[in-house]
Amino acid sequence: RGLAQLTQTDIDHFLTLLPPSSVRASLAPGTSTPADLEGYNTDWMGKYIGGSRCVLTPKTTEEVSKAMGYCFERGLGVVPQGGNTGLVGGGTPTGEDQVVISLSQMNRIRSFNPSSGVLTADAGCVLQSLATFLASEGYTMPLDLGAKGSCQIGGNISTNAGGLRMVRYGSLHANVLGLEVVMPDGRVLNGLRGLRKDNTGYHLQHLFVGAEGTLGVVTGVSLLTPVLSPSVNLALLRLPDYAAVLRVFGKLKHSLGEILSAVEYFDETAWAVVSGDGAQGEEVERQVFGAEHVPKGVNMLIETSGSVAEHDEAKLSSLLEELLEGPDVLTGSLAQDETQLARMWELREGIAEACGKAGKVYKYDVSVPIQEWQNVLDTLRARAKKSGGRIERVVGFGHIGDGNLHINVVCGAYGKEVEQLLEPFMFELVASKNGSISAEHGLGVQKAKYIGYSKTPLEVELMRSIKHAFDLKGIMNPGKVILPASEVVH
Ligand code: FAD
Repeated sequence: RGLAQLTQTDIDHFLTLLPPSSVRASLAPGTSTPADLEGYNTDWMGKYIGGSRCVLTPKTTEEVSKAMGYCFERGLGVVPQGGNTGLVGGGTPTGEDQVVISLSQMNRIRSFNPSSGVLTADAGCVLQSLATFLASEGYTMPLDLGAKGSCQIGGNISTNAGGLRMVRYGSLHANVLGLEVVMPDGRVLNGLRGLRKDNTGYHLQHLFVGAEGTLGVVTGVSLLTPVLSPSVNLALLRLPDYAAVLRVFGKLKHSLGEILSAVEYFDETAWAVVSGDGAQGEEVERQVFGAEHVPKGVNMLIETSGSVAEHDEAKLSSLLEELLEGPDVLTGSLAQDETQLARMWELREGIAEACGKAGKVYKYDVSVPIQEWQNVLDTLRARAKKSGGRIERVVGFGHIGDGNLHINVVCGAYGKEVEQLLEPFMFELVASKNGSISAEHGLGVQKAKYIGYSKTPLEVELMRSIKHAFDLKGIMNPGKVILPASEVVH
């Protein structure tokens, strides 16, 4: 829409700004081929497939700035890309003339202060590598998610990723101290002050947290990191039903207090998809619960982390004993070593990937009051029965500690009929519960037109003004988050 077409002259110009290894283009014969660019054009689910013919992999902020300055001058669309693990199609281009700027070559830790815990790093650093670095300093990252081996901190900030530790450390808004951002016209906004307190007017960095690459390219981050807890305990519980989950959740918050670091939920369908159906799943159950017969039901994973091992263990063990004596917990297991701990986490973190292997997945990442989760799942399952067998499973799991329910609808193939059955039905359902249609993944392409289900017209109008003020020519991540008013569903 009104953006320039990419030409060989543009590629030649990029080659004067960046080293040849940082410019990949498939316009002219003898350079890169479309297959070389496929990884940048295809999202993690294989659902959103773009056709960009130019990918830039700058190594410095200055290179990003030069590339952006040129794209602004020419009016070329730009798609910032991190680890490309996003789940709403935000990181893949929507047109062949859009230039992908991948941050993958910007992966330097710039500084770390062991007294304050303030980390400053390039935006392309992979989350896991930052966590590994910090562990050697006695610190950790304030967020953790299943995609940690590939996603980048710049992508995490741009999606305001939530994940498994939010219940303990809060959202990234609480931990991002400052950002370095290349603005759409190439100017560099240097906000890497690393200060915890700075009330000199508007907190601009918060606008980029969750902006999904629509306001600028994040190139550097300054984060407050928490100390690594020496004592981590993990318990897996099997409960008869969701009502029991709510009762147990209430109890454990009071009993575990400040050491509670994660509370995850996964239902029977999620268990089956990740551990295998039938006998295979039962064998996994026997192994992780350490019991010959494990009753069917739903699951909770409870993690504590603190500084005094005996104190933390005593708290969790006595809570488990109490719960096992009552009707709300059928059986449970406390991880005895690192291997068991990793195995239990694998089951929870492996659900999304297992769904992807089982079929094509429609993902709904919603915030609804936790007392409504079962109701939402039951309503959607009733709806799925109308798909004539196209929908194979409706899998429910999520971060119960912060009210974020994930629903993965697994089908044989992506198709209009299934999509029309699910959308906007799913968004109407969430809106009827006063929920949010995107708890942590963002709007991307998938939900951009449904923004009105979670934001009022005034909120959308103000967002549109902010987008225009930052991105005058509308070149940043076209087709994502903020669409022209005529394309938004009312
Ligand atoms: P990308 O996918 O590359 O990009 C995501 C968005 O951010 C795009 O709009 C892109 O344009 C923009 N962007 C990326 N980098 C920049 C930058 N430097 N500057 C400006 N814009 C940028 N998400 C959660 O919140 N919680 C979870 O628990 C969680 N679990 C997941 C588990 C699995 C197995 C998978 C595959 C994904 C999961 N996700 C989760 C989703 C995803 O990992 C997160 O959204 C993550 O933060 C995306 O980071 P990325 O580097 O891969 O970004």
